[in-house]
Amino acid sequence: MAPIASDAAALLALRCPRCHEGHLFSRPAYHLTKFADMPAACPVCGQAFEPEPGFYFGAMFVSYAFSVAIFAVTTAALYFLAGDPALWVYIVGVGAVATACTPLALRYSRALMLYWFGGVHYQPGRAHRPAPAARA
Ligand SMILES: [Zn+2]
Repeated sequence: MAPIASDAAALLALRCPRCHEGHLFSRPAYHLTKFADMPAACPVCGQAFEPEPGFYFGAMFVSYAFSVAIFAVTTAALYFLAGDPALWVYIVGVGAVATACTPLALRYSRALMLYWFGGVHYQPGRAHRPAPAARA
């Protein structure tokens, strides 16, 4: 498979920021117990996915922003589409949508953290080279 040329498209596809080809997560998002599992390094180019210990603590802030957006959009949608329903409908509706979106919010918050603060840039020629650990 050819690497994705655009950073934004690679981010949306949750691919490695260096080669745009390796997957950031080991399992699909709907795997309810292991949707957050990431390989230690990119299986294609060997880029480490955790640049330093605790790197993804900052992703909590990005995830918080996603949660606020999910709450606001769901509340507005319920208000306008359901005609300002009872309070319990808001609580159940927002809770259900936020719970359903949890794997995506976590994955995209980690991916944004890696793309913004990981210090990794796209290197088109890096795909299909052996990982640094494999050469040693
Ligand atoms: Zn890679």
